[in-house]
Amino acid sequence: MARKNSKDGETPLFRQYWQIKKQYPDVLLMFRLGDFYEMFFEDAVIAAPILEVTLTSRPSARGDRVPMCGVPYHAVERYIARLISAGRRVALADQIEDPRTAKGIVRRKVTRVVTPGTVVEDALLEARTNNYLVAISARPSDLVDADYGLAICDVSTGEFLVTELVGGDPRARLMDELERLAPAEVLLPEEAASACEEWITEGHAWTLTPIEKEAFPRGTPRDALLKQFRVTSLRGYGCEEMPLAIEAAATIVNYLRHRHLDALGHIGGLATYSTDEYMGLDSTARRNLELTQSLWEGGRGRSLLAVLDETITSMGGRLMRRWLERPLLDVERINGRLDAVEELSRGALLRGEVRELLREVSDLERLASRAATGHASPRDLAALRRSLEIVPTLRHAISDCDAGLLGEVAERLESLDDLTSLIGAALVDEPPGSIRDGGMIRPGYSADLDELRGTSSESKEWIARLEVTERERTGIQSLKVGFNNVFGYYIEVTKANLESVPDNYQRKQTLANAERYITPALKEREAMVLGAEEKITALEQRLFSELRDQVGAQAPRVLAVAAAVAELDTLAGLAEAAVRRNYCRPTVSESPRIFIRNGRHPVVEALGEEPFIPNDCRLNTDDHRLLIITGPNMAGKSTYLRQVALITLLAQVGSMVPADEAEIGVVDRVFTRVGAHDDLASGQSTFMVEMHETAIILNNATARSLVILDEIGRGTSTYDGLSIAWAVAEGLHGIGAKTLFATHYHHLNDLAERLDGVQNFRVAVKEDGQDIVWLRKIVPGGTDRSYGIQVARMAGLPSGAIDRAGEILQELEAGNRDGGPAPDTRIRTQKQEVQLTLFEMADHPAVEALRDLDLSTMSPIEALNALDRLQKQARE
Ligand code: ATP
Repeated sequence: MARKNSKDGETPLFRQYWQIKKQYPDVLLMFRLGDFYEMFFEDAVIAAPILEVTLTSRPSARGDRVPMCGVPYHAVERYIARLISAGRRVALADQIEDPRTAKGIVRRKVTRVVTPGTVVEDALLEARTNNYLVAISARPSDLVDADYGLAICDVSTGEFLVTELVGGDPRARLMDELERLAPAEVLLPEEAASACEEWITEGHAWTLTPIEKEAFPRGTPRDALLKQFRVTSLRGYGCEEMPLAIEAAATIVNYLRHRHLDALGHIGGLATYSTDEYMGLDSTARRNLELTQSLWEGGRGRSLLAVLDETITSMGGRLMRRWLERPLLDVERINGRLDAVEELSRGALLRGEVRELLREVSDLERLASRAATGHASPRDLAALRRSLEIVPTLRHAISDCDAGLLGEVAERLESLDDLTSLIGAALVDEPPGSIRDGGMIRPGYSADLDELRGTSSESKEWIARLEVTERERTGIQSLKVGFNNVFGYYIEVTKANLESVPDNYQRKQTLANAERYITPALKEREAMVLGAEEKITALEQRLFSELRDQVGAQAPRVLAVAAAVAELDTLAGLAEAAVRRNYCRPTVSESPRIFIRNGRHPVVEALGEEPFIPNDCRLNTDDHRLLIITGPNMAGKSTYLRQVALITLLAQVGSMVPADEAEIGVVDRVFTRVGAHDDLASGQSTFMVEMHETAIILNNATARSLVILDEIGRGTSTYDGLSIAWAVAEGLHGIGAKTLFATHYHHLNDLAERLDGVQNFRVAVKEDGQDIVWLRKIVPGGTDRSYGIQVARMAGLPSGAIDRAGEILQELEAGNRDGGPAPDTRIRTQKQEVQLTLFEMADHPAVEALRDLDLSTMSPIEALNALDRLQKQARE
């Protein structure tokens, strides 16, 4: 809109601005003007509050005023970071000719585009978290009810993956993948963006970038990939037959090539994955099990990752997170990892050596990516060299290991001598962080540079000697040679010695006590120094960027080594955690059973205040299919449920587990229904969320799944809730999923008598006067008490309320037992009324219906439903 207003009579500057802006319509354009980057029109209005700078205006040729805001060029990185954290996309238009020599308006062009999904600069990234750019394609293309292709790229590490989500509720699977990836930026076909924006980004900080149909040059998506990877077929990547995946991958390639100035030199190939290779973990399960984030405080704080991540490098940290979020299904692969972790945990010396060496390795993935995208600093390349120099020693350290996986990793730890020698020859050992002032190129690397440096230092020495020679020649002992920015080099003589000044001195400046002079010879030397220095800096910068390009071209090799380092770090990290926390190796197989002896909850054990009490667990598809777990509040039911799920998950990650012994039959999916929370943002009440999650479990669980249910039906009336809980338990029993069901509905204990494979357990407590002592031990058998009032008292509920609750409980229990009169309470009054009315209305339809019930043919659930109906009838 603003554009139209200003179209007539645009100044040359705005004409140039719009020419550039047209190529980058959907990003904030930072336009270099003198010492500032300025933003205009709507860009300024959007950016000013984010940057906390003043929104001003500038007159246009038409006489109206154009909104603008600006930031000093030298601080631009800080401001870019703010815009990126606010989910914005930014392009920098720089002056590409010297304003002093330019004819007319200085030429400008976009030299950098930064978006949340494409940043490579360290300051804009979190070290131990991947930064994903994701593209989604869909058939039909409106994305609403479709099959999906998903391409995932971390530009900062060179990782590039594709998959297709076809069939079996693709939309839910897409959201699960997106939530796992937590992408920084999502590319969507423009026509789908408006329809899907809400459900894709709701509640998330992902930047959505719509891609218009005509955005990129013609050519099929497949062609774009063939060209990028310089291959003739995509078969080698396993995606030749995956048109949706190819389309999504091509969107990323084109986006990086055409919108990000070729920021994809290091992306030399892609890998195909299938969500079927991994244990199914939807976002609910990941959240409830607190894999990478704590449920209540957010952040990593009390998560499994926080406790388990003993990796040393950032690359290892990122891989550890990916492994935890994607446990494996393939028993062989799991055991491969376990063999490696076990060997590293047994060999303290080996592990110590490996971890010591890893401390010397910087983030190779991000260094290589920065080299390839032209952002690496001299210090980055020196760090890359030092890290690569460690690799052969690392390889040697694990060369005698027995575990097959460690052998494989060793092979991938290729020593890149050519690259380390190249960088070593070119760069000094401790180069500066920026190329601005030179000082990074090693003597002997370039003859031209050495010559220039020779000239410069010779003249500098001549000047340095001048003070001595002139003192001798003139006899003026206080004579000084100095330098300032206005006159350059000068000779200073105090007023007292002026008569001794020789004839060839030319006066330049008079000070209070002294005169300053120059001589033609001094000026000649000065010109040599300054000229050489300017040339030295320019030459060093050129040599460095050539070096960076050469290193960047080798990025795929560095990334392959980096992946092996990350894997070794992760395996050694798991081993370290196992030793520190006293974990055991689980036996992982295809068997349908789970057996855990003295299992512990890894996070509660590590961070809890009391000593952890271990517990056993036996689950199978036979006599221990469904375990009903009752017990008082705070007894440890939830902890127990989660610990079983976490031990299973860890085993399938290939990690040792917190137990004395564990046999884990691989499970295809872990489902969780834990606690209660409102999802107000999506307009769902506690009960709706609960039922939604339960529906997903009943619809998707298989006999190979592990289900943990921590209370069901608490968000509605007691009868409705109990009925639902009962029905869900029966449903899961029918499916045969291994299920742990914690509940305060003690009636569910009856299931054990009715269904094979249902077992009752409770968490033992001891009563100590009015208090209860939690023993945290899971023992066979059911329970008939919740101790809710005792727990409430221990939690600090006022004694008045506690006493009253005790009275009411007694009344209710007495009423339940004998239906007799109860003391003076509202509850009692209602109950009496109901009883009286029922008594009096012998021919009421409800009483008739009651008589007709055939209890012997009814299941408990039917009985409860009938009772509910009768009560409603009686109350009408
Ligand atoms: P509620 O029914 O109120 O939800 P709960 O039975 O699910 O309670 P948890 O939340 O599992 O109880 O446990 C309460 C606290 O007890 C935990 O936060 C933990 O600190 C501690 N705890 C649980 N199990 C153990 C254990 N086996 N050893 C030591 N401490 C434990």
